[in-house]
Amino acid sequence: MGHKSISSGLRASALKEAIHTKEITVEKPGGTNAPISDFFGSMTFGLAQMRDKLPKDAYQNLLKTLDHGKKLPKETAEAIASAVKEWSVAKGVTHFSHWFQPMTGLTAEKHDAFISIQTNFHSELKVIEKFTGSQLIQGEPDASSFPSGGMRSTFEARGYTTWDPSSPLFIIEDDAGKTLCIPTVFFGYHGQALDCKTPLLRSVEALNTEACEFLKLIGDVDIKKVQATLGAEQEYFLIDKNFVSLRPDLIMTGRTLLGAPSTRGQQLEDHYFGSIPTRVKKYMQDAELELFKLGIPAKTRHNEVAPSQFEIAPIFEDVNIGSDHNTLTMEVLKRVALKHGFVCLMHEKPFAGINGSGKHNNWSLSNDKGENLLEPGSTPHQNLRFLAVLSVVLKAVHDHAAVLRASIASPGNDHRLGANEAPPAIISVFLGSMLEKILNEIEEGKSAQATEAQIIDLGVGKIPNISKDYTDRNRTSPFAFTGNKFEFRAVGSSAIVSVPMTILNTAAAAAFRSASAELKTLLKTKNSRDEAIMDLIRSFVKESKKVRFDGNGYSEEWKVEAQRRGLPVLNTTAEALEVFKDVKATAFLSAEKVLSTEEILSRYHISVERYIKTIDIEIDTLLELVQTYVLPAVEKQITALGTTHTYLNLSTLKTKHTERSSQLEKAYLAILNLQDELQMAVNKVRELHDEAEKMKKLAHEIQPLSFKLRESCDIAENLVADEFWPLPKYREMLFSNSLS
Ligand code: ADP
Ligand code: MG
Repeated sequence: MGHKSISSGLRASALKEAIHTKEITVEKPGGTNAPISDFFGSMTFGLAQMRDKLPKDAYQNLLKTLDHGKKLPKETAEAIASAVKEWSVAKGVTHFSHWFQPMTGLTAEKHDAFISIQTNFHSELKVIEKFTGSQLIQGEPDASSFPSGGMRSTFEARGYTTWDPSSPLFIIEDDAGKTLCIPTVFFGYHGQALDCKTPLLRSVEALNTEACEFLKLIGDVDIKKVQATLGAEQEYFLIDKNFVSLRPDLIMTGRTLLGAPSTRGQQLEDHYFGSIPTRVKKYMQDAELELFKLGIPAKTRHNEVAPSQFEIAPIFEDVNIGSDHNTLTMEVLKRVALKHGFVCLMHEKPFAGINGSGKHNNWSLSNDKGENLLEPGSTPHQNLRFLAVLSVVLKAVHDHAAVLRASIASPGNDHRLGANEAPPAIISVFLGSMLEKILNEIEEGKSAQATEAQIIDLGVGKIPNISKDYTDRNRTSPFAFTGNKFEFRAVGSSAIVSVPMTILNTAAAAAFRSASAELKTLLKTKNSRDEAIMDLIRSFVKESKKVRFDGNGYSEEWKVEAQRRGLPVLNTTAEALEVFKDVKATAFLSAEKVLSTEEILSRYHISVERYIKTIDIEIDTLLELVQTYVLPAVEKQITALGTTHTYLNLSTLKTKHTERSSQLEKAYLAILNLQDELQMAVNKVRELHDEAEKMKKLAHEIQPLSFKLRESCDIAENLVADEFWPLPKYREMLFSNSLS
């Protein structure tokens, strides 16, 4: 009690704690000098381990399942289960869990112990470690506790999880013990997908089929497999736990619903790539060690643009494994943060006025030889293939821009898209000046004959320079070509990447299908295959031209221009999600057998419901903060001013003072009025029955009102004595890292 702080008591002690937090010593498996390769993947059981541990025929059977979708024989399942059990028990694992991605935007697990009871002749009980093939392969969690978007009313409540053998098993280790996690898909009684992984796997299959057919037509006759690759750069904020515990908004919604900007934000541009504070570096090291043990190839780490914002990026992998790994990475980042006294915020916009967080999805296609199909090569044929694949991707994004936009729609991402810090909500493609030039020349018919000489003449023979075409990277583009891959940048930081990846893969699959059809016709009339391919490229480049944009995506002119071009301009989640109800727009998903109409609608309902619930929680939390934190603080200040006022004698002082008081009173009144207005408006919206109508009103009436209320609160924050303000301030949350 003795010490009188300038800050409010709890805030002051949180700050003290934050600065003096003891750094955790990070212990490296195998000792400080052990190379990463020594323990990389030590907590996983994937193909390499299976090859080592399984009987030869069991391993061969597994490969048949993986490569040709053959059903796994029962004996093989038993052999795998037994090897898995032996490996896990030796590692101290006691439980196993089917790990899946329901449509909640999180992952789910249900733990079962490895034990089984045996009784002998005298009914004596004996506990043994047991794990059977069927336990490995199938689980049956109660589907009724997971969202089904209406599919449940017509089907049974039962849900099944089935092992996805293409993704390694892994052990999650925390203070509570070790659990073996089995990556699974989750579906209903009639096979309807209840998760995010089933559609992803279907899209991988569709893409493989359609792309192989196309590549054969263009001359890659021995092509066996095409797969999509993913490297997801993950951004996040790291805030001291002591502050977060005093911010009901961060706890309830993952973002600050109010808070005046600090005097310094990111205007000095001093945080990006700046030196990482030691405490944060230790955290990163610790998190990366966990990731390495889980076989996740974390590669780069650095500061991001906003204070206390960071990024981690892996080496790319197959899209299915890359998606699992991104989801796991988010979990590990959050878990390890708590150990270091931080909270890792994955929300797209935790703090107003500074950059939000995204997740750049680097995506490409590769064949069974490991060649990147979006890598310009060294021979004219390779480059013709490169241009063909590129034009197919352009067509995919052009034809399915609206659904791609919908696939990244979330209430959090709404704060980011369209603000001048992240790609706009309009999907367009940036290619860079060299490719633009080449495509324009092709369009103008400069290589109608497509002889080898002319292809070279066109520049196609020498495209390799492109990977070095770093001169004109366009940060404002939501879908940018970066040398040998595309970067889908509009994805939100909290997203489950399998959702946008499913849509992207399927869009590409659909475009490959049209490409094959068109090429077959062209091959009948053209003199040579190369000429037919060139014609196809020209036709796709023309068709998709309007989706290409290399200007400033942040500008107002672009919005007007995009509208003029007829591109979908879907500014908020409320508009974007409606696309899922447009049967014409989503037909390609059903045609490629990735999502049925029913499955698409179920996802629409779930997304709408999540949107409504999220905004509801935000509004309730904001109103509670205003009533129980902001107003009492302002009242304290008004009382203090009144007390001072009665003691003032000098008339000039008195005038100044009256001005001060009236500023504060004005803010107070504004808050009271806006509070009532928001409460009444939201009550009215809650009476609506139509989901879509409700979502629109929340987006276009309630949200703006809540921002106005916030604005008044932020004005008040700067008028109220620091000691009366109960909520940790932006400067404390964002800059304390640099003090510890
Ligand atoms: P930059 O975006 O500056 O080119 P990097 O080359 O480091 O950065 O790549 C960024 C991310 O893109 C990394 O996660 C990387 O693994 C990933 N990436 C690189 N090549 C591919 C590819 N062919 N497919 C998918 N992701 C890729
Ligand atoms: Mg980045």
